[in-house]
Amino acid sequence: MSEYSFFGAVEKSFDKAAKFTKWDPGILEQIKQCNAVYRMHFPVKIGDKIEVVKAYRVQHSHHKLPCKGGIRFAMSVNLDEVMALAALMTYKCAIVNVPFAGAKGGITIDPKKYTPYELEKITRRYTSELIKKNFIGPGIDVPAPDYGTGEREMAWIVDTYQSMRPGEIDALGCVTGKPVTQGGVRGRREATGLGVFYGLREVCNMKDVMDRLGLTTGVEGKKVVVQGLGNVGYHTAKFFTEAGSKVVALAEYEGAIFNNDGLDVDAVVEHRKKTGSILNFPGATNFAKNTDALEMECDLLIPAALENVINGENAPRVKAKIIGEAANGPLTPEADEILAKKGALVVPDMYLNAGGVTVSYFEWLKNLSHVRYGRMEKRFTENLNGQILGQIEGLTGKKVGDREKELIMHGPEEVDLVRSGLEETMITATREIMDAWKANPEIPDMRTAAYLVAINKVGTSYAELGIFP
Ligand code: GLU
Repeated sequence: MSEYSFFGAVEKSFDKAAKFTKWDPGILEQIKQCNAVYRMHFPVKIGDKIEVVKAYRVQHSHHKLPCKGGIRFAMSVNLDEVMALAALMTYKCAIVNVPFAGAKGGITIDPKKYTPYELEKITRRYTSELIKKNFIGPGIDVPAPDYGTGEREMAWIVDTYQSMRPGEIDALGCVTGKPVTQGGVRGRREATGLGVFYGLREVCNMKDVMDRLGLTTGVEGKKVVVQGLGNVGYHTAKFFTEAGSKVVALAEYEGAIFNNDGLDVDAVVEHRKKTGSILNFPGATNFAKNTDALEMECDLLIPAALENVINGENAPRVKAKIIGEAANGPLTPEADEILAKKGALVVPDMYLNAGGVTVSYFEWLKNLSHVRYGRMEKRFTENLNGQILGQIEGLTGKKVGDREKELIMHGPEEVDLVRSGLEETMITATREIMDAWKANPEIPDMRTAAYLVAINKVGTSYAELGIFP
């Protein structure tokens, strides 16, 4: 079997959708290509040895600026993977109307093998390489967390940037996903998982779609399987539980567990912290292999880890009615074909996991405006609501209860505004994609419809920008 190319899979999906557009072949070719690829090697002293670290930053498109996309730390990082992830960022941003071009970065390391001090050295050196080549900056290219990185790494990046670009007033906007104390925004940490939830909830609220799948509308009571208990998988599972769904199985790389009555996600995380594994969780049954969870009978299957987990080999055994791609690229094009034939609905990655970059956009705006969301209007809104409520109470001669009063009076905090912006974004994107799908019965699946929406937006940008003579 030839080696799987993730970028090849993205190109394949792109071509499938491009057929439904009227764009000049030159424009389509320009959208598809990765514009700039920076592959670097740099030395880092680890203990008494010098290690040569391999890393990348790929800017897939430049139809808008800055470029945007996370940085991955994993042994699987290679050029093909970073190119594919960068391309997905272009389409993702277009679908959710986030005015960025697509990029992605990665370092080929196993972060578990290094101490925090060593990781800091690697991250800071990577950042200075990006600065040297003008591959980072609030108006150039803005990284964020991805698999294997988080707030801590983003804090090192912004600190390195600020120390090498002293006096740059918008320097905080050079990276997103920062800790709140370092210019981050409240609500970014759970944003991808919450976006996955909002997107799937909207799909589940569409009666015609649910009728076709033989499911009732709404997420309440739905059986959910989540693969990957990292930042995305954990928060997705939490939001589904809060909405009344049952998380019946969880999978991690060491194994998978299930309980038909639903698992307590926090308790599983606690158990994993204590024992080093999710296996043998009290009340749950262990699966023989972690991939068995993917083949379980359920309503919603949510792969939330890495690419290529559902492919031509195991797709025939997948029984889920809806597959929600919280990860980037968890299904191969072969899996898409097989699942479409089975009548399952695949809700595609490049829009479903766009909650992360959407809230990154809010964080970047906050950094450029130098003011916290809600700071100007919170008290004003509360005072106004208080006056309205007072008038109503005066006119009716009745008083509302304390709990209701609190709800009515509440002025928006940063996290309220961020979440409501995210909810609006995910609902609008879901409807736009579904409308594009319904408008043309020839479109075979939701992924193709999503690509179509994205290609039309990026194509319009390129066409309006004009091409240099
Ligand atoms: N790494 C995330 C993604 O794949 C977030 C990117 C960002 O916030 O820029 O969408």
